[in-house]
Amino acid sequence: MTDLINVSGKCHCGKITLTGAVEANKIVACHCTDCQVFGGGPFRNNVMLKSENISIQGEVSNYNKIGGSGAVRTQGFCGNCGTHIYAVDTEKTLYSVRAGFLEQHKSLAPVKHIFANSAVQWLSNMSAVPWFEEGPNSVEIDYSSL
Ligand SMILES: [Zn+2]
Ligand SMILES: [Zn+2]
Repeated sequence: MTDLINVSGKCHCGKITLTGAVEANKIVACHCTDCQVFGGGPFRNNVMLKSENISIQGEVSNYNKIGGSGAVRTQGFCGNCGTHIYAVDTEKTLYSVRAGFLEQHKSLAPVKHIFANSAVQWLSNMSAVPWFEEGPNSVEIDYSSL
């Protein structure tokens, strides 16, 4: 019996809310090129929820993509604010929920990384460049010196 972690979250505009229970041993960072394109970052962190362990309120928009295996993967997102919610198979048996909008996301550390072949090389070197506590409008970051 796998340990379950209760999670909850809402999209940026709040029209979609999700509650559920994550399989603790199935937190997976995906570095595939589709995740990079959809997510705008180097990878997306995903948590796996069986259909019986997930509850979603609000209307989820869908985009069907064909995965590398040839299978359809439905990408669920908020049609209003664009927040990524999940990917799911056509039978809707196992949801791969995007961890970023979950309140618990900081504690949902990946237990494995997949599609390392397309991972960006600079991830392993992130501590070598400056980190600021806040963003450009709230701290004195001198971009002219970068
Ligand atoms: Zn939204
Ligand atoms: Zn991916």
